[in-house]
Amino acid sequence: MTHTLSVSSQLNKVLRSHYLSLPQGGLCQVTYVWIDGSGENLRCKMRTLESEPSSIEDIPEWNCTFIRINHPGTFNTMILVPVCIFRDPFMLDPNKLVLCEVLKINRKPADTNHRHACKKIMEKVKESIPWFGMEQEYTLLGIDGHPYSWPSNSYPKPQGPYNCGVGADRAYGRDIAECHYKACIYAGIKICGINAESMPSQWEFQVGPCEGIVAGDHLWMARFLLHRVCEDFGVIATLDPKPISGNWNGSGCHTNFSTEATRAEGGLEHIEMSIEKLRARHVEYIRISDPHGGQDNQRRLTGFNSTANIHEFSAAVDRHGVSIRIPLQVSQDKRGYLEDRRPAANCDPYAVTGAIAQTCLMEDDE
Ligand code: ADP
Ligand code: MN
Ligand code: MN
Ligand code: MN
Ligand code: MN
Repeated sequence: MTHTLSVSSQLNKVLRSHYLSLPQGGLCQVTYVWIDGSGENLRCKMRTLESEPSSIEDIPEWNCTFIRINHPGTFNTMILVPVCIFRDPFMLDPNKLVLCEVLKINRKPADTNHRHACKKIMEKVKESIPWFGMEQEYTLLGIDGHPYSWPSNSYPKPQGPYNCGVGADRAYGRDIAECHYKACIYAGIKICGINAESMPSQWEFQVGPCEGIVAGDHLWMARFLLHRVCEDFGVIATLDPKPISGNWNGSGCHTNFSTEATRAEGGLEHIEMSIEKLRARHVEYIRISDPHGGQDNQRRLTGFNSTANIHEFSAAVDRHGVSIRIPLQVSQDKRGYLEDRRPAANCDPYAVTGAIAQTCLMEDDE
């Protein structure tokens, strides 16, 4: 199977660990991570700081230049503003990963910088103490784009044994999911679990519950770690919401949401009020549920394979083929959170959490 793995994953990793263990004096290697102009892909580059930063203020702004696709030979410079610091599970302590917001040269947010608006919304609604927990599904592919470990000219056995499955014929690529999990914990990401998903080579990790903007920050950095861990193993993680057409589950990013009111005694009433507000804005919400105005998600939200039809808003207790699920435990306790099952796996969590907070917690004229 090695021909489906990348070449760099086959470099000698024992040698790598020798160099990583060399002393680095008081210097600190910092990897700047940012969302590029696609709104879904991440980029990074590294620099040396004279000492270990003790807070985000100690990490200077930087910039990046990219070629303008429609204007060959011309370049745009963008500003990278550090917003969130993590330990680096690849270069190890004291080195850092830093998530950045991207600004244009006039210091206005880049078109794909949804954090900027999300942060403002989260500031306005912070009295409600909104929490978000996101379930990130993804599918492993070989570098040839074929689902990892799937037979080259046929399909694996139909879905059924794979969700939370154990055994070489049902769990494909567990090393990735487990190593990513450990890397997230080391980094300081609030990751709360992982599981094998319904389609072979499909996995999920969960981030949260996180308050406000932190959910987006932690999910984006967790995605960076996923792609970076996959690089070491020579495979690709795709967040395409329907990587294999037909009777195979797509990948979503279920977004669980609660506030101080929904978590308090009798909070179910507040959950039901939120559901009605979400119902009223379903069409505009679908447009931000992926980076392409809802077109990617259209392939996933068919009404089959544990999804609701994209054109119909629905809500129910303990059901999977709905837009919003009230978990069974929540309906029994009459308090807790709702699960929004609509966001696609490649959604921008800032756009999604921002839309939910704005819809459920702000008045129309705010
Ligand atoms: P599912 O049954 O839908 O597969 P998971 O166990 O995969 O559920 O994920 C549950 C998600 O709900 C996690 O991301 C977790 O952080 C989140 N969550 C749990 N409690 C709350 C809460 N009170 N508010 C918001 N999110 C929550
Ligand atoms: Mn250069
Ligand atoms: Mn889940
Ligand atoms: Mn799932
Ligand atoms: Mn779920």
